[in-house]
Amino acid sequence: MAFVAMSLTAISCSKDDGDTTKPSINLSTPAHDQVLKIGDPAGVLLEMDLSDDVMLGSYKLEVHSNADHHEHSLKSEGNTDFSFHKEYDISGNKSIHISHNDIVIPAGVTEGEYHLMVYCTDAAGNETQVARDIILRN
Ligand SMILES: [Zn+2]
Repeated sequence: MAFVAMSLTAISCSKDDGDTTKPSINLSTPAHDQVLKIGDPAGVLLEMDLSDDVMLGSYKLEVHSNADHHEHSLKSEGNTDFSFHKEYDISGNKSIHISHNDIVIPAGVTEGEYHLMVYCTDAAGNETQVARDIILRN
């Protein structure tokens, strides 16, 4: 175990561009296990604060089904599972408050447990990810 930990440290510090500190994600909404309404045209309120000690680069949102309680390995998904992917450019900001309703869950998708993933990358390429459990209900 000690060897594995040392290897990971070596990989994360291998960049030679100065900024080796990952950006931070403070996701306040949706909350853990929050129930989101399927077919609500207003969309899902997402609120978070992103910051980096040097400069932010971009962030990415992803929603996918967690009906199988997976651990982020490859899997096949059913046709009516809701999924969402979008990437945002936030370069030029050292810290930024994000608040929008871009995630709209269309009527007809499968109810159940989903993951909301947030990936934030700083200008130097360091990435932080947060996974939040959410529940979609009609
Ligand atoms: Zn997942």
